[in-house]
Amino acid sequence: MKLFHCGRCASLLYFENSRCTTCGANVGFAPDVMELLAVDPKGGDTWGEVASGNRYRLCGNYQNQGACNWLVPLTDSHAFCVACRLNRTIPDLSVPRNHDLWVRLEREKRRLVYSLLRLGLPCEPLQENQLGLAFDFLADQPAMFDERAKVMTGHSHGVITLNIAEADPVERERMRSQMAEPYRTVLGHFRHESGHYYWDLLVRSGPWLSSVRDVFGDDTRDYKQALDQHYQYGPPADWQNHYISAYASSHAWEDWAETWAHYLHMVDTLETAWQFGLRVNASQESGANGGPEYGFDPYRAHDFDGLIKHWLPLTLALNSLNRSMGHEYAYPFVLADPVVEKLRLVHRIVNGG
Ligand SMILES: [Zn+2]
Ligand SMILES: [Zn+2]
Ligand SMILES: [Zn+2]
Repeated sequence: MKLFHCGRCASLLYFENSRCTTCGANVGFAPDVMELLAVDPKGGDTWGEVASGNRYRLCGNYQNQGACNWLVPLTDSHAFCVACRLNRTIPDLSVPRNHDLWVRLEREKRRLVYSLLRLGLPCEPLQENQLGLAFDFLADQPAMFDERAKVMTGHSHGVITLNIAEADPVERERMRSQMAEPYRTVLGHFRHESGHYYWDLLVRSGPWLSSVRDVFGDDTRDYKQALDQHYQYGPPADWQNHYISAYASSHAWEDWAETWAHYLHMVDTLETAWQFGLRVNASQESGANGGPEYGFDPYRAHDFDGLIKHWLPLTLALNSLNRSMGHEYAYPFVLADPVVEKLRLVHRIVNGG
């Protein structure tokens, strides 16, 4: 993720900020210029130069709900920003806890949308384009009304459904532990489900299908049967030699979605390292200046080997930093060679060749 600076006072700002903590200006992310701008919500004027020359207003969910920090150009007739326009169903805000859960979901969703925009991938609202994308944020109904009313997180025909309970850290940790997963985050869910959407859009009936089958295996296998089998018998014993996660071994579609999500983890984290001007010396043998510098934009990197070469030392540092703070590993993954080849193919597909 990029770092930003306040157009009014030049203070450092982060993607999630909606106010500059130094000068108090409203700040918002303008997706047309991919910048966080200091904006006057009354007149739409911005401080500092804006490449597009646009003036902006706050997204409706920013103005009225505190659930967004993105901007809409004054020339755009939509009430909501490009990220909020992807919402088809939001939680019932008359339920007291739901606003808080929804705000957490939106924060992670905007990070997904940021990456999709940076990669130049299509992400138009389903309401405006039949090949578009939509989000349903749903809550489980009390079991007394309907036993089957459990909301399953998933993707179908452009609609990503997320159970809002995933935004509750206690509930998410309970599920993570129950499923014996080393990694479970809201952002991870969004990235994973977006993978299913882009499989439909970029792979299903396009020129990449045969390359994807070569690397990810047979996607025509009965999906329901494969998942049932996965939940009943677990992953193959040597899954780590072939897959990024145990779940990825359940079916080629899940392998693709897990790998896709991982690619998005990589480019976002590498961009953050770049923005902070990091240098990581993971190998003591190579001397104090031996480690790679993160001096490039991973969203514009055409050399996949370069990405991987920079990624591995960064994950070692990331894990060590987390352990220093008493947290679990931030990156509980191992990249076996076949997984690297899968990531390479995702890289080629998102970069168009
Ligand atoms: Zn400021
Ligand atoms: Zn918005
Ligand atoms: Zn999936």
